[in-house]
Amino acid sequence: MKTNMKTLVLIGVLFASTLALSSCQKENMNSENAQYASLLDVTADGTTSVIEANLKSAMITTTSLTDGELASLLKMKEEEKLARDVYTALNQKWNNTIFSHISTAESNHLNAIVLLLTTYGADATVGEPGVFANAEFQTLYTKLVADGSAAIEEAYKTGALIEEMDIYDLNQSLSSVTNANVSLVFENLVKGSRNHLRAFNRQLTALGIVYTPVYLSQGDYDLIVNSSMEKGKQYRMNGNGQGDGNGKGQKGNGNQGNGTCVN
Ligand code: ZN
Ligand code: ZN
Repeated sequence: MKTNMKTLVLIGVLFASTLALSSCQKENMNSENAQYASLLDVTADGTTSVIEANLKSAMITTTSLTDGELASLLKMKEEEKLARDVYTALNQKWNNTIFSHISTAESNHLNAIVLLLTTYGADATVGEPGVFANAEFQTLYTKLVADGSAAIEEAYKTGALIEEMDIYDLNQSLSSVTNANVSLVFENLVKGSRNHLRAFNRQLTALGIVYTPVYLSQGDYDLIVNSSMEKGKQYRMNGNGQGDGNGKGQKGNGNQGNGTCVN
């Protein structure tokens, strides 16, 4: 009974002191207890997907996109679609788990780009499977599906080629992008591509095949494939995050991380 009274008094004191804080102090108090979660779900075979609820929660309010950022997003929309469509075609050809898993992940990557384009009111139209707005990607699609259909090892090499191209292009874009949400998505997509590259390299190594990189230097390629699968880094959840799918994620605390409270 005595303990209960003490607890009640303590709760009362805490409640009163919380009320006494300014909204800015409250923001800082919340940031000490801020919830963090990964934006990525990484499975044992390296298939890496973006957890859309956590992405939405980690996104912040920004100014509009620059022309360069919009161009990067539109290009990556086509490139993620290329990955999805080629892997879907190769899965139909080979009925192979890795292509089935990774094509689903690429569909999820495409959705992350579409989410950004939609957020900024840009055109987020996705063409029919195998049909591309960009002529270069259209030609590449036809070539890659043909190459990967020749033999299963050619299919894995095609996978490695697509992933190293994604890594190269995402890193190029990351060096010029300043929009925090675009950087956030690209940072996580490039991690996903490195994991997918490791996954395809693992298949090739099992067949005794040594892949020669085309877009990346041999040094960069070796560094990636000789390191372990990457989990996502922990980002602050500002809104409605729902966890990382492994039961470790936390619900967001409802703060809008728009940087209005600065000390
Ligand atoms: Zn991707
Ligand atoms: Zn990928």
